[in-house]
Amino acid sequence: MTRRMLIAGNWKMNGLQGNRQEIDALTSLLGGHAPDSLDVLICPPATLLADLGRDCAPGGIKTGGQDCHFADCGAHTGDVSALMLKDAGADYVIVGHSERRADHHEDNALVKLKAEAGLRAGLDVIVCVGETLIEREDGRAADVVKSQLLGSLPDGASAQNCIIAYEPVWAIGTGKVAGLHDIAQMHAHIRAVLGENGGAELAQARVLYGGSVKPGNAKDIFVLDDVDGGLIGGASLKAADFAAIVDAALTVVNHNP
Ligand code: PEP
Repeated sequence: MTRRMLIAGNWKMNGLQGNRQEIDALTSLLGGHAPDSLDVLICPPATLLADLGRDCAPGGIKTGGQDCHFADCGAHTGDVSALMLKDAGADYVIVGHSERRADHHEDNALVKLKAEAGLRAGLDVIVCVGETLIEREDGRAADVVKSQLLGSLPDGASAQNCIIAYEPVWAIGTGKVAGLHDIAQMHAHIRAVLGENGGAELAQARVLYGGSVKPGNAKDIFVLDDVDGGLIGGASLKAADFAAIVDAALTVVNHNP
């Protein structure tokens, strides 16, 4: 089975109506349409999701949410459900981003419930895992990522509906990228854990790398065996940078058709 690359942009808490022009710029930099051979995704703040969905659709760019509540609806002031994301045009939802885990004290059990809400709503879920610097320095990175995976993966996860994003916390927004050997090793580990616990089918889930991916380092990362694309924060905000990262992925796909 050939895994399809996914290049996902996470705008985080950035983006006003004026930033919608980045989508027009991105679409034209991509030659009018996202490449047929890979998936391009933008996860804007919830306030822009419906508008961006309309902006993105003609160019074949997908949209997704950055988080969702674990319930489908109800008395949860200020929260957004997966059903609402779907209703606003989303195809994906990110769950368990390290900023959510840290800022909102989200643990694996909650991330799992959110991922299950995403699947119920018909979204594909991007489950984020990744160790802190202390955990890496202590030699615990592999164990931490394994327990995050086992605790956060939704019931019903498959290679079709579930994507893993490996994002070492210390590499997010810092300009520090994990070493290529470390990325390759962790992605192989993640795939092995998926296989041990979900069988051969789940082992084929896409595994993205995230953490200071830029136009200048993207190709070296995407070419690694078990890397199926990237989750891009800062560099997704500028159309030129994000388009260059999509181009880097396309080069890799074209070399391994
Ligand atoms: C992220 O937000 O998931 C991320 C990886 O951010 P950055 O690319 O800015 O490090």
